[in-house]
Amino acid sequence: MNNDTINVDISKKWQLLLWKVFLSVAIMFMVVEVIICLVKKDLGMARGAYMGLYVAIPLVIYAGVLSGTLYVLKKNKLTENGADWLVSMMMFVIFIVPAFEHYDAIVLALLPMVSIVITAVFANQNITLVMTLLTFCSLIINDIRLYSLFEWKEISFWAYVTASFGLVLVLSVVTFLLNMHTKELMESIGNFTVRQMNLMTELRKDPLTGLYNRRSFEESLEKEIRRTEENGEKAYIAIFDIDHFKNVNDTYGHSNGDVVIKALCKMLKEKSKDYGLAFRYGGEEFVILFNNIELPKVINVVEDVRTEFRCYYFQFMNNSGITCSCGVAEYSKGESAKAWFNRADNSLYQAKEAGRNRTVVSE
Ligand code: GH3
Ligand code: MG
Ligand code: MG
Repeated sequence: MNNDTINVDISKKWQLLLWKVFLSVAIMFMVVEVIICLVKKDLGMARGAYMGLYVAIPLVIYAGVLSGTLYVLKKNKLTENGADWLVSMMMFVIFIVPAFEHYDAIVLALLPMVSIVITAVFANQNITLVMTLLTFCSLIINDIRLYSLFEWKEISFWAYVTASFGLVLVLSVVTFLLNMHTKELMESIGNFTVRQMNLMTELRKDPLTGLYNRRSFEESLEKEIRRTEENGEKAYIAIFDIDHFKNVNDTYGHSNGDVVIKALCKMLKEKSKDYGLAFRYGGEEFVILFNNIELPKVINVVEDVRTEFRCYYFQFMNNSGITCSCGVAEYSKGESAKAWFNRADNSLYQAKEAGRNRTVVSE
């Protein structure tokens, strides 16, 4: 997991949030228009004309924008950044429609400003900049229309224009600052999450060999049992234990002992990679958890590891070799993780008793 994956995730959540805002605001506008149409006495036009102009037309525009956006999102496989732009544009349209229709109600003429603030969630300065420019354009158009509409005293019209443009300016500066802050926040949340995920992975691994550790094995074992119970596939545990390893440490030293452990781990990892997962269960004990496999293949892999390990040449050892023993057990239906593991461990014990350097399969 990295920072980009987290950002994509956050972006998706924000887009979803804006979709919800889009739908609720669109519905709210429509409901208010219908109520006005039904309740207000003097509409200045016939009710049917009002419904057409203020309900039907916006409805068509909203439905068009909604389906157009969905179509582009589905068809074009946009990047997250592209989708952020699209959703922001959609938000602009939702506010520009009532602003253009009700430009004579001065407060509503200022509605597109909301779309500037909404871009703050994406922490993208470019989206905010474009929204600011679009809002300025819509204000200019509406101001020109307003100017011809009322008996403005020169000063009050220009006071209105100055105030509204000042407001856009303040809003965009505030949004820019919010953008910066949100971006930093996202980055630090992202870094924190990545660090936490890496730490979690580290916790599941053995530092000496890089193999998954016992804690991870126990989790995997439970998962494997659930999987096997569900799909009926075969699963096997193979436990490996280095023979007379204490002697290796005593004779050649602990650090040479580590070299032996690492060599065996490398073999376990490589040879098991297509059939299951290898774990370091304890000091010089290792497990391979096999899934969806037949016994001959398991024996094949296990014997391959055992033979290669026996033949491996360690420089510090002169001519004497080192071996390992292995116990194998197939999962039998309804068995607990502990019982399954104990059967493999018993087989390992039998392999040791029978003289080591061999594999025993549980009945
Ligand atoms: P057996 O054939 O019965 O398995 O005998 P053994 O000597 O291998 O078994 P025993 O359990 O007596 O000894 C295991 C030794 O493994 C003891 C311990 O010091 C050593 N060991 C455990 N972890 C490590 C490690 O990380 N590095 C090294 N070098 N030695 C380790
Ligand atoms: Mg042991
Ligand atoms: Mg041992």
